[in-house]
Amino acid sequence: MSTNNEFNVVVIEDDEADFMILESLLQASQRFRFQLTHVRSFQQAQQYLTEECHDIFLLDYFLGADTAIDFLKEASVLHIPQPVVVLTGADSGRIDDEVIELGAADFIPKNELSTSLLERTIHHAVEHKRAEINLEQLAKRDPLTGLGNRLLFEEMLEASLARAERKKGKLAVLFLDLDRFKEINDSLGHPTGDLLLTLIADRIRKVLRGSDFAARIGGDEFTILVDEINAYEDAVLVANKLLDAIAPPTAIRGHELNISASIGIALYPENGKTPIKLMQKADIALYEAKRHGINRLQCFTAKLQTQLEKSIKLEKGLRRAMEHNECELYLQPKWNLSDRKIIGFEALLRWLEDEGGVRRFVSPAEFIPIAEKTGLIVPLGEWVIRQACKMLKAWEAAGVSDFPIAINVSPIQLKPGNFGASLKAILEREGIPASLLEIELTEETLVDMNSEDDNALAELEQIRSTGARISIDDFGTGYSSLKYLKHFPADCLKIDKSFVSVEGVDSLAEPAICRAIVTMAESLGMQVVAEGIETEAQFQALTAMNCSMGQGYLIAKPMPAEQALRFAQSHNGKDLEKSGPSPSVEGSNGQ
Ligand code: C2E
Ligand code: MG
Ligand code: MG
Repeated sequence: MSTNNEFNVVVIEDDEADFMILESLLQASQRFRFQLTHVRSFQQAQQYLTEECHDIFLLDYFLGADTAIDFLKEASVLHIPQPVVVLTGADSGRIDDEVIELGAADFIPKNELSTSLLERTIHHAVEHKRAEINLEQLAKRDPLTGLGNRLLFEEMLEASLARAERKKGKLAVLFLDLDRFKEINDSLGHPTGDLLLTLIADRIRKVLRGSDFAARIGGDEFTILVDEINAYEDAVLVANKLLDAIAPPTAIRGHELNISASIGIALYPENGKTPIKLMQKADIALYEAKRHGINRLQCFTAKLQTQLEKSIKLEKGLRRAMEHNECELYLQPKWNLSDRKIIGFEALLRWLEDEGGVRRFVSPAEFIPIAEKTGLIVPLGEWVIRQACKMLKAWEAAGVSDFPIAINVSPIQLKPGNFGASLKAILEREGIPASLLEIELTEETLVDMNSEDDNALAELEQIRSTGARISIDDFGTGYSSLKYLKHFPADCLKIDKSFVSVEGVDSLAEPAICRAIVTMAESLGMQVVAEGIETEAQFQALTAMNCSMGQGYLIAKPMPAEQALRFAQSHNGKDLEKSGPSPSVEGSNGQ
């Protein structure tokens, strides 16, 4: 690039005489020094489109059989940082308009060429382009770290991809996410978190070369474009440098913070050719890196590709399932351990997938994560609420009105912040007393909802204010701090089934943990339900430790609604022991 009074100019001109006139006019300049590179065809000129060592293009409109149009179009796709000034013939008003529309900075009729006009035009065009780029980039910067934002990253990536395609080059997209940043942010406060992010951004900047580009695209998520690499190993090298740069302890506001990062890598052209594909794959690789621990990097691999295809297929299937009513809500009874009386039901989604006439059950464990990732869980969750309300109404009409139904609610459903309000509206519309609906939120959901987050708390209060009870599901698996139990307004803890039963074992899987949860729930004034009771021995052990309620195959598997109604009718207020053995309704394919 030039200094202020020196310009590197690429002149694209096939007429030797015209070039010589231009050259002599430019060399006569007293104000500036012009370094000229003369090319004679568009083909030859194209190589300069992807180089950044010059300041401006002077382009003859007619070059043999070609015109400037294609060059300008290509320059605009590549987002080149240099202005293009077109030299046009006399009386070419229409052409002048056309080239300006295509992004040319200016045009000069050849018969008006003079040293002073060239000086002024070149100087202004370069300055304007610089100002335009600065302004554009300023608006697309992350104000906290000064790095790019997502929009700018995508633009830069698109331009780099176009260059790489032309040069048959390679590049890499890195997704970087700080490990346990949320913990720091929650415990030390947002100002400290912000300071840490600024510092990390500086460390990232120091590792990168001029041709690379970094952006912050979310809270603690960064993307890095590693441009012009020779081999896959180069990307891994940069990623390792980034991990090393971030790892040293950081002193902030009197705290010594140990932070690390995880990185996912996607490569062009191997893993994708568009910004969206590459970013998606780097993100998947990052997720995989995080699954294996902290301070790790992971490249996108064939195995991840297979997983991705499977999840895309599942997503398509799930969308179709919602349109074609392939989902069903099964119900599993909950009962009192002391007298084995039914006290309510839990609603569990079933997807009966139709694969070309063959029907198979897809487990919620398989499709709920996809529904959460794609946002489909929101309409699906609403369907679950409406369906549960329908069942409650049908039961009321059939004279069974004292069994609440619990529904599982995903954290994604709580994000928009209007779950409580819409729940209330549905209950009112359907005329269902809220006491008949229970909400199960997993412990993980509650841990993720920061206890200092007023919105999260307000959302839970809102659910409670409808009169619906809240249970904490899968309790004991969420790496929780017990602090949140004090903050969140829950009524009941559900002991995760992994502490109750293990396949092929008759006795209670983790008696000490079960006892601790029962005792804690008791002292916090909460109820407790043990999930997954499969054997009489587990039932006896839980009863002996005063666990009040249970759920599990010992009494009944999840079953379709009509069957659940018959089950409720036959056990309405009755003792299950007296009413005979439980139906094992759900076959092995429906569990
Ligand atoms: P969850 O809410 O903890 O539900 C209990 C799971 O344990 C159910 O699995 C149930 O079929 C199973 N189960 C019940 N008794 C026994 C037993 O004695 N032994 C064993 N081994 N398992 C038992 P399911 O139906 O496959 O659901 C898995 C998870 O999927 C649920 O765990 C819940 O987190 C999620 N899920 C199900 N339906 C929905 C829904 O409508 N919305 C959302 N967001 N999640 C749902
Ligand atoms: Mg549940
Ligand atoms: Mg559970």
